Amino acid sequence: MATTEATIEIKNFIDGEERPAAGGVEPVLNPATGEQIGTAPVSTEEDVDAAVRAAAAAFRGWSDTPPGRRAEALLKLADALEEHADELARLESLDVGKPIESMKADEMPVLVDNLRFFAGAARVMEGKAANEYVEGRTSMIRREPLGVVGQIAPWNYPLMMAIWKIGPALATGNTVVLKPSENTPLSTAKLAEIAAEFLPKGVLNVIHGHGEPAGAGLVRHPWVRMVSLTGSVESGKKVAAAAAQSLKRVHLELGGKAPVLIFDDADLEAAIEGVKIGGYFNAGQDCTAASRVIAGPKVYEDFVAGLADAVKKLKMDDPMSADTELGPVISEVQRQRVQGFLERRPEHAEVVTGGKAPERNGFWFEPTVVAGLRQDDEMVQREIFGPVVSVQRFSSDEEAYEWANGVDYGLAASVWTRDVGRALTAAKRLQFGTVWVNDHITMASEMPHGGFKMSGYGKDMSAYALEDYTEIKHVMVSLEH
Ligand code: NAD
Repeated sequence: MATTEATIEIKNFIDGEERPAAGGVEPVLNPATGEQIGTAPVSTEEDVDAAVRAAAAAFRGWSDTPPGRRAEALLKLADALEEHADELARLESLDVGKPIESMKADEMPVLVDNLRFFAGAARVMEGKAANEYVEGRTSMIRREPLGVVGQIAPWNYPLMMAIWKIGPALATGNTVVLKPSENTPLSTAKLAEIAAEFLPKGVLNVIHGHGEPAGAGLVRHPWVRMVSLTGSVESGKKVAAAAAQSLKRVHLELGGKAPVLIFDDADLEAAIEGVKIGGYFNAGQDCTAASRVIAGPKVYEDFVAGLADAVKKLKMDDPMSADTELGPVISEVQRQRVQGFLERRPEHAEVVTGGKAPERNGFWFEPTVVAGLRQDDEMVQREIFGPVVSVQRFSSDEEAYEWANGVDYGLAASVWTRDVGRALTAAKRLQFGTVWVNDHITMASEMPHGGFKMSGYGKDMSAYALEDYTEIKHVMVSLEH
């Protein structure tokens, strides 16, 4: 990575060294200003092939490295990320438009902890006890790494998604070719550079570029044994279809449309605060964003007014300022996408606050609350991925569950109530991979994150991710010969 005052020039990282891509370079923009801040490589299938070959060559050595030594390397990498936290936060803030203080305080500790979790977890893999299940023969289970894993990340949490992906893959002995989003390549390039000190060459390779040909090239490559994608449902379908050609294992963390069920007995202030944070964190560009409130008949009016008041006070400003709470969305395309939902809103929708882009350079959108929505409305059914929260009023618990489950997605949900029985009923009835009670968006490295339905399959974080990145092998030994 070469940095001058004006521009940051990054390269692919293959087989332990920086390499230019065959497809040349393209500009990297700062979403807060719309200005160019650097250049990134545009990889072709030729670059994909070079990276996969490097990963394949490194596989034997890395998979033969005892788990404890792999853990040591990952722990050193975690320490180094902490040491580079200010620089990584600055890069991420410039590239994604994230408030820099939030990157330092909220994201860096979580991603470092995640890596440390996987470093330790790889040493305590579990399986069935070895035994003579057939007389005269001892059976045992081995968990083997898959080989070269292709990992494709989105733009909303570039560094955190990179870590969530490489942690379980590397801990279990796979080697990796990682492709960050073409919108946000900077922090992943820095990650590759930092990791090179601790990982043997070829163990972690980073290629930059677009879904086609770079991402899709990874999925097509015959030597790649597994592909993990975090991205949109549309990309997930394409990846799953393409991976079927070579029967690769597929791990998909896709979009979400998290319902927030606020019952009449809820602590309303806590619910408003929870949606203010969960709905607008990272400018609402979060797969678990508290984007779809379903409120009880008695609290609906007060909730809508309270949330609107709260989000009007969010400080939307230069992401590099210490007190900024809300940054821009990632790109002009995304800004227009968000705007499109507002422009196509039905007549019964009430924009309580926000609803438009402010007059300033860069890709900004006001924090928005839209009330009065109905279950079939586009804003309720589709992921907006911007600072927009919709609110519906339900009339019975049954209706609340029906609406909550009545979307294609199934990633995360929250329920706000003081009634334990209702909370547990909701936890059972909600068809989502995570259900929070009186909370939203908090995560723990020890606990799984992953979707139901069209939010995908496979788990990030937790020991369950280790299962996704390993194959189970039965070894049977005859005792008689
Ligand atoms: P995206 O699907 O446009 O892109 C994600 C990645 O996939 C990028 O690196 C892109 O280059 C690549 N890609 C695109 N088409 C591809 C193809 N045909 N083959 C291979 N790779 C391809 O998503 P995005 O806009 O970057 O990210 C936003 C989406 O990600 C949202 O839907 C969000 O909900 C989802 N997301 C999900 C999670 C989760 O944990 N479930 C986390 C973060 C983001």
